[in-house]
Amino acid sequence: MMYMHYCPHCKRMFMLNGHHLTCPKCTKSISELKISYIDYVKLDMDERAAFKIKCESETHLPDLSITYRMHKYSKWYRELQCTTVAKQADEVSAVLK
Ligand SMILES: [Zn+2]
Repeated sequence: MMYMHYCPHCKRMFMLNGHHLTCPKCTKSISELKISYIDYVKLDMDERAAFKIKCESETHLPDLSITYRMHKYSKWYRELQCTTVAKQADEVSAVLK
């Protein structure tokens, strides 16, 4: 499976096979994006450019990215994930107000 990732250091998107935590180019940490590979492929050139600009803005990145950790399946991680999702939902509703 291909997944979309964004490296804030290289300022570029990567289509990578599987979930990656580090950039294949600069080896610094990267973010996996919520957008699926299929959805990204469907975007036209203008939409891709707009999406990349959105990724470059660090304020948008937490909303777009998913964090995968080594302890993904542990209980504390799932609890943490629930808290994070709830927090993001709050942030989204705050933006919409
Ligand atoms: Zn990089």
